[in-house]
Amino acid sequence: MKIVDHISNAKGKPLFSFELLPPIKGQSIKGIFDAIDPLMEFNPPFIDVTYLREDYIYKQHANGLLEKIAYRKRPSTVATCAAIMNKYNVDAVPHLICGGFTKDETENALIDLQFLGIDNVLVLRGDARKSDNSFIPTPDGHAYASELLQHVVDMNNGRYLHDYMEDAAKTDFCIGVAGYPEKHYESPNLDTDFKYLKHKVDTGADFIVTQMFFDNKKYKALVDKCRANGINVPIIPGLKPITSSKQLVSLPKIFHLDIPMELSEAIQACKSEKDVKEVGIEWMIHQCQELKEMGAPVLHFYTMGNPEPTKKIVQAVF
Ligand code: FAD
Repeated sequence: MKIVDHISNAKGKPLFSFELLPPIKGQSIKGIFDAIDPLMEFNPPFIDVTYLREDYIYKQHANGLLEKIAYRKRPSTVATCAAIMNKYNVDAVPHLICGGFTKDETENALIDLQFLGIDNVLVLRGDARKSDNSFIPTPDGHAYASELLQHVVDMNNGRYLHDYMEDAAKTDFCIGVAGYPEKHYESPNLDTDFKYLKHKVDTGADFIVTQMFFDNKKYKALVDKCRANGINVPIIPGLKPITSSKQLVSLPKIFHLDIPMELSEAIQACKSEKDVKEVGIEWMIHQCQELKEMGAPVLHFYTMGNPEPTKKIVQAVF
């Protein structure tokens, strides 16, 4: 079922959902099931599976030159989604990125997703490879999420890259895009980033999922700005509790976000990592309670393969 239909069927009651990473090379699907099982009692209507781009492995020669010798592979997002749908009978939402795909490969991936009965996709540009300084579009691929989105919209209207299909061959994806309450790190300011978010919705995005944030005022400001500018699609807050003191540095560095002083000081005052986890969970419980009151349609958790903190929060909030 489409995410927008899950939301409208819930009639204002917030839903719970979460995101997983596909397993690393050599692991089996069991690791994924172990990360899902503890959360199934809360009836998530959908589970997202991220797409992690391959990264090259280099060998350094005596003259200093680097040679690409292999690339790091993960089991595919599509295969992980198929396994989840098969075992749990919930909607799996694959993330689809621009990086690493030509337009033809993108189209073939979407044909496979349609064939598997996947109704939703989250379309993203993707980040730069670790080995590159900035995002480099794949030759004959898409450079921005809005281009990839347009491609999916075209397929939904029966317009494929090289041919126009009969009505029966139209895809029917409900399409999500990313939004950034604290702006995307490459954007010079919030307004420019917002302009491109609006462009994605005007192109046909059905819902927005936000980057994680720790201050609900930032989510509210984004929702208010969207509503004032004619963006009426659901805006799903992305949430992650702080679970270790190291994350005070790593989360702002990786995700380009602010951690409120009250939270950072509470974490710095902790005497053990166990206490840090408790503070992080308590903060997120409070954030979730407020988001429910604010009418957030779904509370969507970035579990990163660790379901336990999310489980404690959801137990307290739902
Ligand atoms: P875009 O919307 O294309 O925006 C990228 C930047 O370009 C922004 O600064 C934007 O303001 C600007 N911009 C947009 N359009 C234009 C234009 N036409 N001209 C000039 N500038 C423009 N990454 C992964 O690799 N895999 C994942 O599974 C994944 N899942 C994610 C899920 C969520 C909910 C979020 C919030 C992020 C996720 N990411 C993932 C990270 C994401 O790929 C990065 O943040 C990436 O750098 C930007 O992706 P985007 O889709 O927001 O890009």
